[in-house]
Amino acid sequence: MIVFSLQCSKGHAFDEWFSSSDDYMEQKKKKKLACPTCGDKKVEKGLMAPSVGKSAPAPAPACGAPACSNGACPMSGIK
Ligand SMILES: [Zn+2]
Repeated sequence: MIVFSLQCSKGHAFDEWFSSSDDYMEQKKKKKLACPTCGDKKVEKGLMAPSVGKSAPAPAPACGAPACSNGACPMSGIK
């Protein structure tokens, strides 16, 4: 089991467990994913998504939390 931090199009972040990333893709395709806060089905992988192929370092976070250095800053991606 793996957990993904997901985010709806309105910016609500929440965690969902999946058996694999294929499971995530499957559920996303079937539109089984919905934001628990507003029910939005436009859900994308959020804060914890692995940054693959990123050449430039992430912009400096504004909050200074310890998690910021690995891109998991709770403040990032939230408008
Ligand atoms: Zn939402």
